[in-house]
Formats: sequence, structure tokens, C-alpha cells
Amino acid sequence: MKELTHYINGEHVKGTSGRFADVFNPATGEVQAKCPLASAAELELAVKAAQAAQPAWGATNPQRRARVMMKFVDLLNRDMDKLAEALSAEHGKTFPDAKGDIQRGLEVIEYCIGAPQLLKGEFTDSAGPGIDMYSMKQPLGVTAGITPFNFPAMIPMWMFGPALACGNAFILKPSERDPSVPLMLAELFEEAGLPKGLLQVVNGDKEAVDAILYHDVIQSIGFVGSTPIAQYIYGTGCSQGKRVQCFGGAKNHMIIMPDADMDQAADALIGAGYGAAGERCMAISVAVPVGEETADRLIEKLVPRIEKLKVGPWTSGNDVDYGPVVTAEAKQRILGLVQTGIDQGAELVVDGRDFSLQGYEDGFFVGPHLFDRVTPDMDIYKQEIFGPVLTTVRAGNYEEALKLAMDHEYGNGTAIFTRDGDAARDFAARINIGMVGINVPIPVPLAYHTFGGWKKSGFGDLNQHGPDSFKFYTRTKTVTSRWPSGIKEGGEFNFKAMD
Ligand code: NAD
Repeated sequence: MKELTHYINGEHVKGTSGRFADVFNPATGEVQAKCPLASAAELELAVKAAQAAQPAWGATNPQRRARVMMKFVDLLNRDMDKLAEALSAEHGKTFPDAKGDIQRGLEVIEYCIGAPQLLKGEFTDSAGPGIDMYSMKQPLGVTAGITPFNFPAMIPMWMFGPALACGNAFILKPSERDPSVPLMLAELFEEAGLPKGLLQVVNGDKEAVDAILYHDVIQSIGFVGSTPIAQYIYGTGCSQGKRVQCFGGAKNHMIIMPDADMDQAADALIGAGYGAAGERCMAISVAVPVGEETADRLIEKLVPRIEKLKVGPWTSGNDVDYGPVVTAEAKQRILGLVQTGIDQGAELVVDGRDFSLQGYEDGFFVGPHLFDRVTPDMDIYKQEIFGPVLTTVRAGNYEEALKLAMDHEYGNGTAIFTRDGDAARDFAARINIGMVGINVPIPVPLAYHTFGGWKKSGFGDLNQHGPDSFKFYTRTKTVTSRWPSGIKEGGEFNFKAMD
């Protein structure tokens, strides 16, 4: 059995706590590796190395740091297939999806190459007689991030890209379910020229997370994962005086207006609802057709498309629509929620419960499901399912659809499909959700904008990547300087006047 490591101070280090987590091959259900779960003592080794390496890196000019980023981008492109294979093998997502995961992280690193421009401070000349004022953006020091299983390349890069570009050291605690790619990324960054100790990977669970939360040296924590853990990390981290940003779960609604192009809306729902087995925080999990006729037309278009979906292992090639979910536990939770939906009176229009794949009977595959006539009091509406299950809530009119999305506790992403510009503008202006798509089902902002949800999907003041990330990973210092004038009338220096 393969035993994975931590990556501390430029070395692969074996776990010493004696605790391990199983890493599965989700397509077969077999355990393929053991992931070490760090103790506080193992985290301490990483903190010490980070503390030693960071001052010199923080003092390195930003252009040199940017050059390391450029080289890292080259290496990511060189190793794209190798990284994507490792990612699919542990996560289960299709090969094109795995490449997308890496690509979206790579784009954030490309943005970080702009560090010399992004880190420029502000200057006020002659704020008073002989007085100048300027601000500097300085690194925080040692920073840390805790990431989820569903984007094991992209989300770590969203954090360590800007953290490193700003001159910090970064300790990553990735998901214990798919830790191999984060380890590979740390190695690649060193190959790109990053000094040892600046990007380290400490694998683990709550014990390692708590050690991060209570460590005095660690200045900031970025977290992405489920909402209860986001709330725990935000509350605890803030109480320890750290800078914290936490991004949580989601329940993304797509409103389909009667004037929408129904084929386009149905195609969008297939990709956004079932792609990556629904294991995306920006997946659409609630379709909200406006009006009974719209709902009937939509369901009619969705059913044959869902029945055509190909579910299979990533090794089957590019024509697989989605793969298995990440663990047997996740599969059981999803199927348990499907049963609850049936028990609570929702109409199961497409039933994927009996799905089985020959040769992969023990894999964590879940067939696609479609529910109609879901109501807001049902658990399948209230909870994040995080699986290939699309629910439909029929709304009587636009205001009812808008209110539905607004009243939900999550506020990550949403979309409206319509041909009416006025309705689209009204929706974008009034909705209390962080990322909005207009005829775009998964409106993930590009690297140079920021990514972040509202309500219980995001905690903290700043979003991820884009300009906010450079604010999150720096502190502003403002200097006021006064140099009494030594210039005499006539242009001669009068040094005595300066005594
Ligand atoms: P998770 O909350 O179970 O785990 C996330 C991280 O927290 C992991 O590193 C894990 O080891 C750690 N963790 C788990 N339990 C912990 C505990 N009790 N104490 C301290 N740390 C703990 O989430 P997941 O299952 O890996 O990922 C799926 C979730 O992430 C979904 O809810 C999804 O919506 C969310 N997500 C959100 C975004 C976003 O940007 N809002 C992006 C991706 C995923």
C-alpha cells in the first residue's frame, strides 16, 4: 500500500503520528493509498521552516517572485497530463474536468505574475510642508490554508498563488481524501525556483487544523469547505486574532423565465447540475422554472438529456459525462437524501438509484436523479446534496422565484435564463447572492475578478483571487515623513538650519 507523505522544508516527510486516512480509488472502491494525519508536532516543523524562509522571500523584489511564478506556470503546462491523471485517480472526476481544475488554478498564478504592479503602494507628495505620505503593502509572514476535496488543484492555487506572490510563506492542509496533487504542486514550485520552506503541505484532519488555528506564528487562514467547518474555523481563527476568510457550502438556483430558450436552458442545466457528479460548489442544484407551462416544457427537455448521460470511470476517455462521487460515505448520504425527498413527497422523475456499472460494482457511482415539485420545506431543498441530483421548484411568477433564491441560507452562485434584458438587470441588482450568471449557468469569475459567496456561503470581508487576494495576503503600513527644508533663499543648502 502506497504511503503518502507531508512536504516539509523541501522534503517528503513520513507521517509520525501513527494516524492515517484511507485514500480511495472512487471508481473501484479500493483503498489505493494511506494519507498521514499530522499531529501538532508535525505542523510545528513546517511552521519553523516557514518562519526561517519567509523574511528573505518577503524582502525579495516582487519581479523576481513573479519570475518564479512564470516558471511554475511553464511547469504546470509541462506536467498537465500527469497532474490530471493523479487528480482523476483520487477524486474520480473525468480527465477533461481534472485538466480544468488545474487550468483554473494556473490562471490565478498567471494573475499573480502581475505582483509588481499589484503591490505598488500609494504616495502623496507634499501632504504638508516638507511632509510626504506613502503606504506599503507588506507580507503577513506565515500563512495557511485548508482546502476541500472537490478542487484539489484549483483551490490550493487560489490561496498559495497570491500568498507567495505577496511575499508570504504558506502552509497547505489539503483534503485528506485526495492529497497527491497538492504534494506534486509543492514539488513543482520548488523546481520553479521557490526556496524551501515557503510552500509546504501538512496532511491531516481536525487535529492539524486545530494546531493551525491556535498557532501564534500563523497570521492568516484561508478555508474552503462545508459551512459548519467554515463557521468553526472563522469563529476560532478570528478569536485567535488571525485574518480569516472562509467559504462554505451552496445551493445554487437557476431561474428559467418563460421566454428563455428552453433547449439552451436544458443543456445548461445538464452541465451545471450533473457535471463533476454535482460535486461543485457552483453546481446548479435547484431549477426554478417560472410558470407551470415553463416547468412542463423544461422537464420534457431535461428527461431525455439526463437519460443519455454517460457515467463511468475517468479511464474510459473523453465521452464520459461524470465519474463516481468521492467516497462510499458520500454516496450513502446522497442516496439517503434521495429517499428523504421521496418520503417527503417530491416527485422523482428520473430515478438513478439502481445505477450500476459492470466491472465497477464497488465503485462510488451514483446515477443521475431529477426531482420535480420540490417545496422549500423539504430537506432536499434545504440541504446541500453535493451529488448528481437536480431538484425542481416550480415558481408562480418572477417575484416568487427571486424570493425563493433570496430566502435560502446559502448565497454562493445563481443564474437566470431569459431573453428579457430588464428582468436580467433586475435580477442582478436585487439578488443577495455573490456570483450571478445571466444565461450563464456556472458564473465562476475569472482570475482577475474575485470569487466569493454571500450569506452562509462566505465568511470574512474579502473574496478569493483577483484584487481582493492581494489585500488579504498583505498588510498596509502608512508612513508619514517630514524633512525640514535645508534650502536657503537663493538655492544654497543651509545645513545649519537643519541642526
Ligand atoms: P469539508 O468541510 O468536509 O472539508 C474541508 C476541509 O476541512 C478539509 O481539509 C478537511 O480535512 C477539513 N475538516 C473536515 N472536518 C473538519 C473538522 N471537524 N475540523 C476542522 N477541519 C475539518 O468539505 P469537503 O467535503 O472536503 O468539500 C465539500 C464542501 O466544500 C461542500 O460543502 C462545497 O460546497 C464546499 N466548497 C465550497 C466552495 C466555495 O468556494 N464556497 C468551493 C469548493 C467547495
